[in-house]
Amino acid sequence: MTSESSMIDRALAEAHLPALLMALIHMTGDTGLLSPEWRASYQPMEEAIKARMGGYTPAMAAELRARAKTAIAAHMEGAALPPVPSPGMIATMMNFVAGADIPERYIPFLMAQLGLSGGDAGRCPAAETTRNLAGSHLRVVIVGAGMSGLLAAIRLKQAGVDFTVIEKNADVGGTWLENVYPGCRVDVPSHLYAYSFEKRNDCRQFYATQDVLLAYFREMVDKYDLRPHIAFNAAVEEAIFDEAESIWRVRLRDPEGVRTLHAEALITAVGQLNRPNFPEIDGKDRFAGPSFHSAAWRQDIDLSGKRVAVIGTGASAYQFVPKIAPNVAKLSVFQRTAPWPLPKSHYHHEVPPEKIWLLNNVPFYDTWYRFYLFWTLTDGAISALTADADWDGPPQTIGAANAYFRGLLTETIQAQVTDRPDLLAKLIPDYPAGGKRLLVDNGLWCQTMKRDNVDLVTTPIDKIEPDGVATRDGVLHAADVIIYGTGFQASRFIWPMRIVGRNGQEIQDAWQGDARAYLGITAPGFPNLFMIYGPNTNLVVNGSIVLFSECAVRYIIGCLDLLAQTGATTLEVKQSVHDAFNLKVDAANARMAWGAAGVSSWYKNATGRVSQNWPFPLVDYWNATLAPNPDDFLLRGSS
Ligand code: NAP
Repeated sequence: MTSESSMIDRALAEAHLPALLMALIHMTGDTGLLSPEWRASYQPMEEAIKARMGGYTPAMAAELRARAKTAIAAHMEGAALPPVPSPGMIATMMNFVAGADIPERYIPFLMAQLGLSGGDAGRCPAAETTRNLAGSHLRVVIVGAGMSGLLAAIRLKQAGVDFTVIEKNADVGGTWLENVYPGCRVDVPSHLYAYSFEKRNDCRQFYATQDVLLAYFREMVDKYDLRPHIAFNAAVEEAIFDEAESIWRVRLRDPEGVRTLHAEALITAVGQLNRPNFPEIDGKDRFAGPSFHSAAWRQDIDLSGKRVAVIGTGASAYQFVPKIAPNVAKLSVFQRTAPWPLPKSHYHHEVPPEKIWLLNNVPFYDTWYRFYLFWTLTDGAISALTADADWDGPPQTIGAANAYFRGLLTETIQAQVTDRPDLLAKLIPDYPAGGKRLLVDNGLWCQTMKRDNVDLVTTPIDKIEPDGVATRDGVLHAADVIIYGTGFQASRFIWPMRIVGRNGQEIQDAWQGDARAYLGITAPGFPNLFMIYGPNTNLVVNGSIVLFSECAVRYIIGCLDLLAQTGATTLEVKQSVHDAFNLKVDAANARMAWGAAGVSSWYKNATGRVSQNWPFPLVDYWNATLAPNPDDFLLRGSS
């Protein structure tokens, strides 16, 4: 008992206090604890940075821990838990943890996410759906065995649908298989970056590294016995919709040659960030040494003692630059636009065993901890990135909350370079905070930029010479190796596959460089084609894309169910529905930090439209994808 008692003490010292308070209510049924002084209080985004744990005083924290200790000890001795509080009470509890009045429309979403409405938050297909689908003889081809393709495979398997996954690589994992650059790790908390039905309470890292994530997805494949359904080393070259037969003819190339699969439905799960982008820089091909992209890291090239040029300062470079800097002779980092850092001192920390203990042993603590992470990083943060039409504050801010956020971030940069005023101007971005992906930072970036062997070059690149990179001021930055951290061809959705829909129309021709879809999933003229992580479904505030994939997959299963129920052979979104949706998306994106004029990023395509991002709260995607509305579609033919 003594060792148990001291374990509880140590664990409670690590507890997130508002989450602990909620767990205490679950354990004791004492809703009297929901008095105003216990309501957490945060400034927008401040909690994400400073982890103030709700603003409780030391005396309140001590009281909470003491009460929780008694309740946990009783629970461990076998005390029964009171019934789960009512939805109305849960709604109040959410407000307490978030320190905000969460709108009504969030309640069903959050209840499901918290697992408090029973069952599976990502919605395992319902028994009725499974019955419909099992009797439908639908065949489905999924392209890609990364996070979202595997998710689709799990759900289709659960629904008893015949499916094949086509994967161009020799293994599963997608982005987490391909990106093996030093320092690669997720920049969303590990406890959120997981399937909702396969939680990761035992994760040892707050932000899991690439190898850990790859292991997780491989584990999912084994657990759900997906390998027999996956064709590896097979790349889809073309998919043509045969109108007479109402099937997709999917041509793929694998080591044995070319073959064609037939399927009633085609799901693309190829990611937005898969095809590397190499900048058009004069002389690129004349460089004498090796050069490579961050997503195709050359493990065979030893960088130690070399002069290395890195082009780009986005999320990838932000992770690998600090890792390689100590080993190279000289590192020239070419920055076109400064990124905004999102400070997280525990970014590289291991999760203490005490926290893992809390997640695994204190009833509902994991639920509320996840909710706190979710809220402070996603919908709770959205106001800081939304423009206020009447704002007449300082330039490069779009509203009061955004200005406050900018101030917080600027202070943290300033504090790190007091000894290097020359760096300050280079490091502070000249666009609104949140205009581009915020880069999770534990101080390593500034430390690296201050190293004697590192030069942060902000003069624009003129050309590449055989022996280095020349800037417009005439300086040659000598280099033995060039690494391109220049991102991906994100706006070329589902490219380079050739997807041909009705009337022989190729999807890239239909899009003309400006990809659009309804809910990012379906497009007019392309019956029974479903995209996961399609146009306008990327997240900027660091929500987990896993959640979006779960929404999309649930919706796709609903569409297949609609086919099965109606006996129609094709389902195609109406042009009017698609267009009305896109008008709303465009208007909303224009109000966001990333839609602001003067901000250029991979979120905007060549036309200047934001074709990548979801501009609304996450809850709206969840609600919109609960089930397809039959009125949105043309349902044709009979099977
Ligand atoms: P990125 O964010 O698109 O960054 C590309 C960088 O290259 C930018 O700094 C860009 O500058 C620069 N660049 C592009 N063309 C250039 C040119 N011609 N001359 C000079 N600089 C040029 O790419 P990324 O770093 O690979 O990240 C892409 C996305 O992948 C991220 O936004 C994130 O969503 C995801 N990602 C996530 C993680 C994670 O979870 N840990 C890690 C890596 C990536 P400008 O800013 O001026 O365009």
